[in-house]
Amino acid sequence: MIGDVTTPTSQTTPTRASRKPRPDAALANAVDVALEAVVDAVGSADVGEHLGHQNEGERVVSHTFDCTRPGYRGWRWSVVLTRASRQKRVTVDEVVLLPGPDAIVAPEWVPYLERVQPEDVGPGDLLIPEEDDLRLAPAWFVGDEFTDPLLDDRPARQVADELGLGRVRVLSMWGRDEAAERWFEGPGGPEAAVAVAAPGRCRDCGFLQRLAGPLASVFGVCANGGVPDDGRVVALDHGCGGHSETTLKKSQLPPELSSPVFDTVGSDEIEPL
Ligand code: SF4
Repeated sequence: MIGDVTTPTSQTTPTRASRKPRPDAALANAVDVALEAVVDAVGSADVGEHLGHQNEGERVVSHTFDCTRPGYRGWRWSVVLTRASRQKRVTVDEVVLLPGPDAIVAPEWVPYLERVQPEDVGPGDLLIPEEDDLRLAPAWFVGDEFTDPLLDDRPARQVADELGLGRVRVLSMWGRDEAAERWFEGPGGPEAAVAVAAPGRCRDCGFLQRLAGPLASVFGVCANGGVPDDGRVVALDHGCGGHSETTLKKSQLPPELSSPVFDTVGSDEIEPL
């Protein structure tokens, strides 16, 4: 039975805060009213056994019935009953179908931008950022309408665009921090397996190409064509076996070959038997 109100035992004295309010007795007993309402709404063929009741508030109780409609295994009809103060007459608030713990329900909705993974985007596909994408910030907060009399009457933004200086939006601080976090925790970060086993760090590798801007103190770009990280952003604390100063330890060197032995014995030096 669901929705049973637990009755405190004599050993445990519930506090005022932990005591559950009792369901209204008249509403809790009105199973026939609830059954009539649900049968009236959906037909008797879809209504199964009474599963219980639960208190929903002051003089509000819901009764639950199993749903026997094909395809709705685990779903339940819930009939909410109420009555006015000092009135015995029970009235029906609503009849709804609700999923039970074993019900098959649709997976939670995920916006398409979160669903699409980088590997899903192929040549020719468009991935349009949302208008209010937090990763981007307007490049021009002020001065958009500003007109410089020395540069004729065109807005400053238009002049900047013509000079190749302007971008409509640039990376916001939020977008930059998000990218930095992703890169740091990704395959180019210090915790990547290849970095943990590496003999040196990227910060002192000759193949590291430094970046400009605020990310330069943490990241660079690997320019070693012989390793998988070539062309990728790597953390300065990342590393790999292709580090420019990598040398083998003595124990890793191949064993030295012994000196060659020249066999100078000719057939004329062999005594016949
Ligand atoms: S070769 Fe290795 S250590 Fe050097 S920059 Fe690239 S990833 Fe870093």
